[in-house]
Amino acid sequence: MENCLFCKIAAGVIPSTKVYEDETVLAFRDIAPQAPTHILVIPKAHISGMSEVSAENAALVAHCLEVVALVARQENLTGGYRVVSNCGDDAGQTVHHLHFHILGGRKLSLEMA
Ligand code: 5GP
Ligand code: ZN
Repeated sequence: MENCLFCKIAAGVIPSTKVYEDETVLAFRDIAPQAPTHILVIPKAHISGMSEVSAENAALVAHCLEVVALVARQENLTGGYRVVSNCGDDAGQTVHHLHFHILGGRKLSLEMA
């Protein structure tokens, strides 16, 4: 996708602080962290958001979640963490490339909305 920020980050055209990378998934630090640890996990292939998850890409999405767990261990988030994926305007999705936020390193608010 030509004008997708996270496709550019996945391709290395825009730099990021990577914490994990393999052939299909990348994890990097959020540029505006909302918690002491704030990492984004993305598939390298463009999926516009949760609403585009399907049988065809489910294995890739599941691999993203494996990487979420791996990165949380790597970052020593032993006290726990939250995983968020904003989908669409009402949720405040600003980058339309599927991503999972990992938030941790402090006691998080219990508010979900
Ligand atoms: P959303 O609001 O779509 O759920 O999350 C998008 C996230 O991407 C935000 O937390 C925002 O701070 C982060 N972000 C936006 N632009 C960049 C960037 O250029 N680099 C990095 N590392 N994060 C970004
Ligand atoms: Zn993209």
